[in-house]
Amino acid sequence: NHQTPKNVETIIDRFNIEGKIIEIKAFGSGHINDTYLLKNENDSYPDYLLQRINHSIFTNVPGLMKNIQLVTDHLKSKLSEAAAATEVLTIVPLHRGELFYKDEEGNYWRIFHFIKDTNSYDLVEKEVQANEGGKAFGRFQAMLADLDASLLIEPIPNFLNIEMRLNRFYQALENDSAARKHIVTEEIEYINARTEQMKTILKLGREGKLPLRITHNDTKFNNVLLNKNDEVQCVIDLDTVMPGFVAYDFGDAIRTIINSASEDEKELDKIKLNIPLFEAYTIGYLREACHFLTDIEVESLMHGVLLFPYMQAVRFLTDYLEDDVYYKISFKEHNLQRTKAQIKLLKEIEAHATQLSSIVNTVYSEIKSEVA
Ligand code: ADP
Ligand code: MG
Ligand code: MG
Repeated sequence: NHQTPKNVETIIDRFNIEGKIIEIKAFGSGHINDTYLLKNENDSYPDYLLQRINHSIFTNVPGLMKNIQLVTDHLKSKLSEAAAATEVLTIVPLHRGELFYKDEEGNYWRIFHFIKDTNSYDLVEKEVQANEGGKAFGRFQAMLADLDASLLIEPIPNFLNIEMRLNRFYQALENDSAARKHIVTEEIEYINARTEQMKTILKLGREGKLPLRITHNDTKFNNVLLNKNDEVQCVIDLDTVMPGFVAYDFGDAIRTIINSASEDEKELDKIKLNIPLFEAYTIGYLREACHFLTDIEVESLMHGVLLFPYMQAVRFLTDYLEDDVYYKISFKEHNLQRTKAQIKLLKEIEAHATQLSSIVNTVYSEIKSEVA
């Protein structure tokens, strides 16, 4: 795990924090930022969460922090003061109001209020958890549906743009810098056969049929804080919040929830669909989101479910072809194994697509008739 930085006291001093910090320790299981819990001397002051922002991934820190401020201000404006403090991230500014601190070594730091008495889980194992996850991101999108998406920047440009991912894949194929192309002809063929289908969401967006919303874009379960009763309390990790299509958040969440095996499962037969978890997430999500979604957006959700394993396969295979420069690997063929596992997952989803679509449609019409 990451170590407490040497200059941590001088960093903390820059921020407008209350009370006296008596303990600093590495915290959480995030993979992107370095996160530390700052314990306050006594309970009359909040604890804080210090983060070193991953500046190699997020190159526009001012823009990213502005995004988070816009989004959290908007969310808070819809809640009571008490709820705003415990259900939405609170940025702690520097003494003169800036949203982050850049130290002498070029590291970027920020502080949030620590939201206490909460839990987050890496894995969804139960239907109630999937349901809470769906509610969390459905409510998040719903509360932001009336905020102008064009106010936000893209902290990672083209992050979820499959055309861009495919272009890079074909570039990697052409270069074949690791001389691995001949090993993966089957996988290449599988990807090639689906390029047009996987651009459906982008095309519908360009045709004006799908609106750009404000989406979270990292809808992992450990980015939801749950209260003592394991009910959703707060959506965190807002670094990738940007204009997007609702199907992206849905597909991203479902990719891991629906997979009964791990992302890099070696025994492909173990990769099966957990359909009860899919249904539970869908119910939670649509219950919160049904009142703002258009019918075409609801139809687009299945495209998102197909797109995410596909995009992940493309990204793993690209990295394999480029000699494993991006994803950390534990053994030589790790990226190939990950590619095969994502393709197997997609094959399973394709085989069950009618069933999954009909779950979405049934849940949607049931919830709509309840609401009406
Ligand atoms: P990463 O981008 O590295 O995943 P996160 O912002 O998700 O970073 O933070 C990592 C972990 O820290 C989260 O999974 C969660 O457990 C915890 N965490 C983050 N923000 C808060 C907060 N405001 N209050 C309590 N815990 C938090
Ligand atoms: Mg996170
Ligand atoms: Mg993150």
